[in-house]
Amino acid sequence: MDLNQGRTYLAIPGPSVMPDAVLRAMHRASPNIYEGELIGMMPDILRDLKRVARTQHEAAIYIGNGHAVWEASLANVVEEGDKVLVLASGWFGHGWSDMARALGVECEVLEFGRRQPADVARVAEALAADKSHSFKAVLAVHVDTSSSAKSDIAAIRAALDSTGHSALLMVDCIASLGCDRFEMDDWGVDVMVAACQKGLMVPAGVGFVFYNDKADRVRGEMRRVSKYWDWRPRTNPEIFALHFCGTAPTHHLYGLRTALDMIHEEGLENVWKRHKILAHAIWAASETWAMQGPFELNITEPTHRSHAVTSLRIGVPHGTSLRRWTQETAGLTLGIGLGMATEEDPQSDGFFRFGHMGHVNAQMILGMLATVQTGLVALGIPHGVGGVDAAAAVIAGSDV
Ligand SMILES: *Cc1c(COP(=O)(O)O)cnc(C)c1O
Repeated sequence: MDLNQGRTYLAIPGPSVMPDAVLRAMHRASPNIYEGELIGMMPDILRDLKRVARTQHEAAIYIGNGHAVWEASLANVVEEGDKVLVLASGWFGHGWSDMARALGVECEVLEFGRRQPADVARVAEALAADKSHSFKAVLAVHVDTSSSAKSDIAAIRAALDSTGHSALLMVDCIASLGCDRFEMDDWGVDVMVAACQKGLMVPAGVGFVFYNDKADRVRGEMRRVSKYWDWRPRTNPEIFALHFCGTAPTHHLYGLRTALDMIHEEGLENVWKRHKILAHAIWAASETWAMQGPFELNITEPTHRSHAVTSLRIGVPHGTSLRRWTQETAGLTLGIGLGMATEEDPQSDGFFRFGHMGHVNAQMILGMLATVQTGLVALGIPHGVGGVDAAAAVIAGSDV
């Protein structure tokens, strides 16, 4: 019997669940893009975005997805023949370096595998060995959405400082912004990229590049920057249209306005804490299920885990069969295993992911976990008993 009619839950790590208030804000006729309300909204949108990024520096908005701001950020500070150090803890580190390579940039990739965050000692070693400061930037992914590994960005800054290396620190916060604590200025991040469809709860379509004075000085020394990607005309322009190098993403700006209001009304610290408690509930259930049978959290060490996405190993073919079951029987869509393919499991059928970013609350997470537990029972996948109770205990106590 399919029981999937009713409100569905897309529990994948982006796009995330959109609040009705965001959708309502977007449901309107196109505004005038030459004068009036929309133009007046921009300064506060930028201010409130920077508050989420914890930066006093600059922000540029691009119509595009995460890949667009990967390219936008690179296009402003590196050019053909330059070299960067890339830290890879999963699929997305490699994705960013592929974008850099396509721009003619040489990438030295430090590979940390699919189950570990960046090893800062190895980063420091690589920086110390680079006596001529040939690395123009270090590319780090805060939360790699494929592995769910969270890297210690402040420690990577410390490695740059302790070796006296001049490279820019560039960070991908596409999965973590508005979910996991991130402090752009305090952690000494020079360039940060994010997109709207994850922790920011807006349908996919706009991305952000935040950059500081040091990064802008590097931008100033570039021989040439693509007119479309150039962050300078997009920052504090005299004419509104320059913000977007053309027509504004009108409806996304209304949606974003509402999402930023929601985040700041709740309080960013509270938003982070909510994500943390809900993540701990997910881990408690997962650790209980893992006590028997094939179930396993991809990241063993809790301090290395994201609060926005959790990657699970469950053995072939259980990942795919569980995802099918929860979607078809119960209306719950789980994330696929991404970048986890091996020779034995070319389709990543032994993996799945929980997306728990943005507009999520306790009843959604408890419902998701209870549905997964029911699927484990229905499909006869061996697992430790009491996962949902363990999650409920975390939420009842909420003292993580
Ligand atoms: C989602 C994601 C991306 C890619 O974003 P797209 O919008 O799919 O282009 C890049 N990096 C991380 C960490 C992500 O989570």
